[in-house]
Amino acid sequence: MGALFEKGTLMHRLLEPDGAAATIFEIDYDRLFADGKRVLLYDLDNTLGVGKPDRLTPRVEELLQELSSKGFRIGILSNRRWKIDAIVSSLSGRFPLHLRAGKPARRGFRGMLSDLGADPREAVMIGDRRLTDVLGARRSGIHSILVEKMRADPGDGPRSSGTTSTSR
Ligand SMILES: [Mg+2]
Repeated sequence: MGALFEKGTLMHRLLEPDGAAATIFEIDYDRLFADGKRVLLYDLDNTLGVGKPDRLTPRVEELLQELSSKGFRIGILSNRRWKIDAIVSSLSGRFPLHLRAGKPARRGFRGMLSDLGADPREAVMIGDRRLTDVLGARRSGIHSILVEKMRADPGDGPRSSGTTSTSR
């Protein structure tokens, strides 16, 4: 890291998120709503899943549904270059997914906000990378929350509730 990223420089400030959380599950969404936020933009890889997920797990789906019924509009903004059929079909249009978003360029953020009919001031970007998610959000006037790389999604394991292999 050279002088560019030293504390106090413009670049350092642009890489500093407005908030941080361990995972998407630990974010205080009620607080964001109370602060007037109505749009949640999520990064995909390492944020909504482990690594480069090819689908959303039930627990992540459940969270997004819950937030959606609370009144948030949701969009997924990814720099991935290829289409992920399984995710696209599992989302089935419920949440817009923009690939090749080109973060940290402002274009992708603007495009998603325009699709959602939203203003930057009511939006929050949630992602695991400072150089794309945080920087792009800050340059676009969007509140940013940095999460750690998702390591394991509890909803990703075999179902444990009530189903046993002996019941047949
Ligand atoms: Mg990511």
